[in-house]
Amino acid sequence: MCVDACLWRCTNCLRSPLLCASCCRITHRRLPYHRIEEWKGDCFEPRWLSSVGIEIHLGHQGDICPENLLFFLDGGFRQPFQPSSKF
Ligand SMILES: [Zn+2]
Ligand SMILES: [Zn+2]
Repeated sequence: MCVDACLWRCTNCLRSPLLCASCCRITHRRLPYHRIEEWKGDCFEPRWLSSVGIEIHLGHQGDICPENLLFFLDGGFRQPFQPSSKF
């Protein structure tokens, strides 16, 4: 059961289901080439999957780098890049 409003739909998924942002992110974690749209009150507008927090991970067999895992579990949206004090 979705907590948030189901304002997103995927034009590539079978039957283009309406999804909330969280379900859309979970559903498309391994489907980065699908195209989604967001309901804007009177029409759907095209959006990138990054709009719901999808990222493509090239290492770790497509999974999130363990160093970023805690951040992902804390909402799944990446904050703007912050230079590390290590450098
Ligand atoms: Zn949902
Ligand atoms: Zn899809």
